[in-house]
Amino acid sequence: MVDETNPFEEMMQRFDRAAELLRLDSGLYKVLRNPTREITVYLPVIMDDGRIEIFKGFRVQHNIARGPCKGGIRYSPDVTLDEIKALAAWMTWKCAVVNIPFGGAKGGVVCDPSQLTISELEKVTRRYTAEMIDFIGPEKDVPAPDLNTDEQVMAWMMDTYSMHARHTVTAVVTGKPVGLGGSRGRREATGFGLTVIALEALRILNKAPEETRVVIQGYGNVGGTAALLLHQQGFKVVAVSDIHGGIYHRDGLAIPSITRIADAQKIDRITNAELLELSCDILIPAATENQLTSKNADRVRAKIVLEGANGPTTHVADEIFEEKNILVIPDILANAGGVTVSYFEWVQDRYGYFWKDQEVRERLTEVMKMSFGDVLNYAQMHQVTLRTAAYMLAIDRVAHYTKLRGIYA
Ligand code: GLU
Repeated sequence: MVDETNPFEEMMQRFDRAAELLRLDSGLYKVLRNPTREITVYLPVIMDDGRIEIFKGFRVQHNIARGPCKGGIRYSPDVTLDEIKALAAWMTWKCAVVNIPFGGAKGGVVCDPSQLTISELEKVTRRYTAEMIDFIGPEKDVPAPDLNTDEQVMAWMMDTYSMHARHTVTAVVTGKPVGLGGSRGRREATGFGLTVIALEALRILNKAPEETRVVIQGYGNVGGTAALLLHQQGFKVVAVSDIHGGIYHRDGLAIPSITRIADAQKIDRITNAELLELSCDILIPAATENQLTSKNADRVRAKIVLEGANGPTTHVADEIFEEKNILVIPDILANAGGVTVSYFEWVQDRYGYFWKDQEVRERLTEVMKMSFGDVLNYAQMHQVTLRTAAYMLAIDRVAHYTKLRGIYA
C-alpha cells in the first residue's frame, strides 16, 4: 500500500507505472529509481542572542545523465529527506520533459524562516553553501530558489561559493537578482509558464479567456504571478488563497489591487479546503504537496487541474480525476517555466551576455508550447493520461542517455 502522504512513495508509484508501460530494462529501472547522492549536513549557527543552534540540511542529487544537477532549495520546518528525494527526482523528469540539458536535484534546510532574523538567515545560507561546496558548481549542481528562498538567498549562496573559489562564479546558482548575473523574467517564469499552458488548454475547453473561471491555491511567487498574468490575459480569477485562507468573488477578483490576501476588503472569505472544491474551469494548486488527495478529490469540480506546485495531487486523487474526466496537467510539465528560465540564466552567465525581457519570454513560450504539444501527442498515441505521458517521455529520454553513456565500472 502506497502511503499517500509520502511524496517519495507517490513519485515512485508514478515512476513504476510509466516504467512498466515503457517496458524499461530492469537494470535501467534500478539506475533511474535511485538517486546518485544524498547529502545530510548539520549547520552550526551563532544566533543573534549568542546561542549556538544546529540546523539540518539536505541536498539530494538524483541524476546527471543529461547534464549537471538542477533544482531548488527550500527552507521549511517540515522538510524531510524523503520529501527532498521526491523533489530531486521530479526535477530530473521535469528537465527531461522540457528537454533542457540538466539532471535533477533538490535541497532543503529544516528551519522556520519567519522565526529567523535576516542575519541568522544569511548565516544559515552561507554555512549550508560552505558545507555543500564540493558538491555544487556550474558543471556539477546548480541550486535555485524554492519554497521560502529568494533572490537574496541566491545572492548569498553565489557570494559564499565565489569567496571560496577566489573569483566570482555567477553560474553556480540561478534565480539571482538581475544585475548580479540573474536573468530577466526568472522571477515571473513559473507563473508565466503556467499562463502559456492555460492559454493552450483553452483549446481543449473550447473557451475564450473571458469565459474561463480560474481558482488558485497559493499566492506566493508561483500562484501570485499566475493570478496576475492570467487576469491580464482576460481570465476570470474567481478565488485565490494563501496559507491562512482565501477570498472569492463569483464575477472575478480585481487581482492587481490584491497584494496581500489578508488586506483584501469587502470580499467573501473561504478556507483553503473550500477553495479547492469550488466549481471552476481551471484549478491551480500552487502551494505545496498533497493538497488533492483521497479525502477531497471526489468533491473537486474543476474541468482542468493545472499543477503549479510540485506534487499537489496524490496518485489516488489522480485515479478519481481520471474517472471524473478531470484533465490533470502535471507539475513536471506545468510548472517547468521556472527551471527553463534558470537554464537561460545559466547559459547567459556562462556566455557573459544577457538577454532582453522579450527574448526570455519568447524562448520560454516556445519551450512551454512545444513541451505541452509533445506530452499531449504522447498521451494520445499511447492512450494514457498526461501525467503518465509526461513520466514516460521523461524516463524514456533519461534512459536513452544512460544507455548511450553506459555504466562506468
Ligand atoms: N524550484 C523550482 C522548481 O521546483 C525551480 C528550480 C530551478 O530553477 O532550478 O522547479
